[in-house]
Amino acid sequence: MGVMAWIDLAILLLLFILWVYMFVSVSITTLHKVYLGFHFFMMLWPFCQFAIKTTEDPELQLLYVKLAFLDMALLAVGWFFFTLLLTGHSLISRKKLYFAIPVPAVIVALGVMLNPNGLFVRPLSGGYVQRTYGPLFWITAVVLIGYGILSLYMIYRTLVSDHSPRIKKQVKQVLKGILVVVALIWTDILVNVIYPFPKVVIPGLTSLGILLSAVFFVVAIHRDKVFNLISIAHRDIINTITLGIVVLDDNEMIMEINQSLPPDLHLRIGDRFDIHSIFPNQETANSIASFIKGYRERPLESAEIDVSYGESDPRYVHIHVSPIMVGNSRVGRIITFQDMSELHRLIDETTSQNEALQERNQSLISIQEELFLTNQKLRLLALTDSLTGCYNRNYLTQQLGFEVKKNMEDQTPFSILLLDIDFFKLINDNYGHLTGDEVICGTVELIKQRLRKADILARFGGEEFIIYLPGTDAAEAYHLAEQIRSAIEGNAITVTHPIRAISITVSIGLLSIHQFPIKLASDSGSIITDLLQAVDQVLYKAKREGRNRIVSSIK
Ligand code: GH3
Ligand code: MG
Ligand code: MG
Repeated sequence: MGVMAWIDLAILLLLFILWVYMFVSVSITTLHKVYLGFHFFMMLWPFCQFAIKTTEDPELQLLYVKLAFLDMALLAVGWFFFTLLLTGHSLISRKKLYFAIPVPAVIVALGVMLNPNGLFVRPLSGGYVQRTYGPLFWITAVVLIGYGILSLYMIYRTLVSDHSPRIKKQVKQVLKGILVVVALIWTDILVNVIYPFPKVVIPGLTSLGILLSAVFFVVAIHRDKVFNLISIAHRDIINTITLGIVVLDDNEMIMEINQSLPPDLHLRIGDRFDIHSIFPNQETANSIASFIKGYRERPLESAEIDVSYGESDPRYVHIHVSPIMVGNSRVGRIITFQDMSELHRLIDETTSQNEALQERNQSLISIQEELFLTNQKLRLLALTDSLTGCYNRNYLTQQLGFEVKKNMEDQTPFSILLLDIDFFKLINDNYGHLTGDEVICGTVELIKQRLRKADILARFGGEEFIIYLPGTDAAEAYHLAEQIRSAIEGNAITVTHPIRAISITVSIGLLSIHQFPIKLASDSGSIITDLLQAVDQVLYKAKREGRNRIVSSIK
């Protein structure tokens, strides 16, 4: 057995090593399983090529040749299914057709195994190391190449379709793999079958094609991670989250970045990371200096800081650094960048809205205060008489209602005075209406000076006044009425325009209630009317008896 024979074995061993490497190093998905099974059958070809040369027995040699081509049929079908899986089944819509796919391969495999009358392969020089192929070989070749062409067609369809860039990238890798293997198989057929150099067989061409395509796939799987769903998913997640991420190794080399990093940073995978580069140039804040110091001196600790980028439309970013630990040792760091601009904008907006609300609130409060004051004035206006400032008739009747009811309940005596200026028409006639008004006001002043705190003075109409004297019996009331009467009689009222003193007198009707013959049940409105009528009658009596006097009535 010559040195040449070992080439195929060496290739077999290399393929086996790659196969084992794939098994132990990659997280296995369905795609990987298909690939690994497929890879195993790739190894059978060079093995059979090697095995042919290890024996002198033509029967055994024939078995290896048949096994090699059987393997090639399996590989062709395997390629086809592998392509289907990668391209997302774009060619075949009906499931039943899947079972039809291997049929041609099975038929040619039968032809290979049976080799009727040496129609597939014949020995040269008594063995199958040197061999010549018959028509069944060509049928087999056409069928197997057919699978390849169909695979290429599917790949073509996928590349021109609107599949995702990731699928297209995978498919391109398969395309390159198929092209490599097909090219070397054709070279093998051309060199060793169609135009064989006399007595010289160039070994291992197909095996080399298989090896190169396998190497190609292993590189693609590892470097480009085309089949690694987990890492594809990780990448997708990392690129779609809004948090900017930088992963550093323990030498501060950038291992990973994502698309959500602030655009001003210009970080690249493979570069050495400089902590200064993530801060805006003009920033010299103490907080940044101490953050950088902590970053350098305490790599095992997490740290965070808020910075802003840009002047006119600043972006606020929260930076967080933490170590990546494996067991007790630090293998790198992860730096995250969280854009807080939106939060800042919302806070600013809320603050200004709050301020506006507070302003509005303040003006509402002052409007409310104004309203309260106006209300008070209005209430006072509704209760008082505009000319004299004392209570009006409305207030008096309302108040008398409460007071009388209370007095009846407590059986408390009370008195009412009705006071009327004597011959007031004459004052109006002689001095005019305005002077008359002044006289009315002057009279009120004189009355007020004699009243006690609880007494109520109200203008009853014109120049008539009612005085309610709570808890006052007839004698006390008479005494008070007399004081008022004599005060008015004895004090001339000074008026202006022109200034002069006008003397007047008043007549007073006095009604004192000592007992309560009126039933409690009767309504206060009619009681008041009765009381006012009664006091009006005694006033009338005072007028009739000559004026400037008091006439009293006790009930
Ligand atoms: P008597 O002694 O009988 O009471 O005579 P009198 O002239 O006072 O008669 P009476 O009380 O009936 O007349 C009241 C007059 O008072 C009538 C009206 O012109 C006048 N008067 C009513 N209200 C006002 C007012 O607010 N201002 C002025 N200046 N005069 C009023
Ligand atoms: Mg009068
Ligand atoms: Mg009158």
